[in-house]
Amino acid sequence: MGLSDIQDRIRKAEAAAGRAEGSATLIAVSKQQPPARVEAILQEGHRVFGENRVQEAAEKWPAYRERFDGIALHLIGPLQTNKARQAMDLAQAIHSVDRPKLAATLARLAQERGACPELFVQVNTGEEPQKAGVLPADVDGFVAECRRLDLPVRGLMCIPPIDEEPSLHFAMLAKFAARNGLEGLSMGMSGDFETAISFGATHVRVGAAIFGARAAQG
Ligand SMILES: *Cc1c(COP(=O)(O)O)cnc(C)c1O
Repeated sequence: MGLSDIQDRIRKAEAAAGRAEGSATLIAVSKQQPPARVEAILQEGHRVFGENRVQEAAEKWPAYRERFDGIALHLIGPLQTNKARQAMDLAQAIHSVDRPKLAATLARLAQERGACPELFVQVNTGEEPQKAGVLPADVDGFVAECRRLDLPVRGLMCIPPIDEEPSLHFAMLAKFAARNGLEGLSMGMSGDFETAISFGATHVRVGAAIFGARAAQG
């Protein structure tokens, strides 16, 4: 438990998979964590963080940016179109692009500002009705649409169903990414980030294993 332990385990998983050291980026998911825990990780020198709500990110991160240089914030939760502008102001990456209307809004704002965060298309690999993400059958078409809109699509993201073997979902996401010429793979959380790295994850999103349990589920 803790940052250095997770970083060690990531380096070991990279080596075990024959991958370059540092090829998997650790996103420390700080949602719903007490400020003291987040500050401790910043003091240890970590700079890449994940939040799942725009509102919460807007309340926390501008103040941290004044005190710590080089922070990269990744938005990993569902994004409403009416929060897209605020999300683009706050985040260096958005992992939850999952529908044409959101893609169109991001494209319009990107044109307007001449810049856009790195984007990941979220894929609902388990085809769960309650979960966000484009369905497997729609991935290629949606990635093509994002590219037509000139959006900077870095890769794909998934959250496997909690009661299924994550490997199958990581393998599926890697296959979709390769087929679409995408290098980025945002997959793996506290319980399965080493497995995700063995399947090619470039970004692992780890919360509880770094910070401890959250006060509430989110
Ligand atoms: C909360 C969250 C995580 C981190 O989950 P842990 O189990 O705490 O590691 C990763 N990805 C997303 C999309 C999340 O919402």
